[in-house]
Amino acid sequence: MNTSNISKLEKNSDSKIILIQGAMDIEVQYIIDLLKDKKLIQIAEYEFYEGTIDNIKIVVSKTLVGTINATIATSIGIEKFNPDIVINQGIAGAHKEDLHVGDIVIGEKCCNINSFKMPIKSKGEGSNPFEWELNKRAKDIQQANLKLVDLVEKSLISNTKNKIYRGILGSGDVFNREYDRISWINNTFNNLSEDMESIGTYSVCNKFKVPCIGIRIISNNELLLEDFDKEQAIELQQTLINILNQL
Ligand code: SAH
Repeated sequence: MNTSNISKLEKNSDSKIILIQGAMDIEVQYIIDLLKDKKLIQIAEYEFYEGTIDNIKIVVSKTLVGTINATIATSIGIEKFNPDIVINQGIAGAHKEDLHVGDIVIGEKCCNINSFKMPIKSKGEGSNPFEWELNKRAKDIQQANLKLVDLVEKSLISNTKNKIYRGILGSGDVFNREYDRISWINNTFNNLSEDMESIGTYSVCNKFKVPCIGIRIISNNELLLEDFDKEQAIELQQTLINILNQL
């Protein structure tokens, strides 16, 4: 962590700017509805809602779905609003059998789980994803700001009844639904969950040296055939607004 990060985190909560991201309407609407003195700033297709909650300056960013959109929205968000903290939040699929719908995962780290080089196979030899090797970006593990991770973990544990896990977020533009594929990814990256945005956010924030964190609520567990429940996104926002004043 460099000194600019320390000073950003040590500001009082009423002088900080917190950028809160979510990909889909259901992942941001609850917080947008709570904003006071709300102002919409739209850049290309990316919506940013500036306002306050309990005197804390908030910018809610609807990133749209996928790593490319998250990367673009984070770059614009940092340049335009100069946030002290970026929180990427929303729903995610579980990559472990002991994670269930409604559990919350805090991403101490984040991995690009879709960056491979495959051995050559000739015509008719088929495709075997289990043979694929990680390329550079898959090995380039991104870090959340650890002080922020500690703060969020402590605050969530004392503010919610949901189970809280801390570990590695997996992220990439594939919705994996094959048991063996998910196990392979999990054995390779030791990730707790999979989403389609956090790697974009972590990569940009780390390059711009802005403290970031990814917080995901489990919406589905394909290993256990627990169905996709996107409403969990609302539960997460309800939980997060209660801890903003502790960051
Ligand atoms: N049909 C929906 C897609 C939502 S699923 C639509 O287009 O509106 C993808 C979104 O949910 C992504 O934003 C991703 O971050 C999250 N997500 C939830 N579970 C996921 C999983 N198992 N794999 C990948 N992304 C998942």
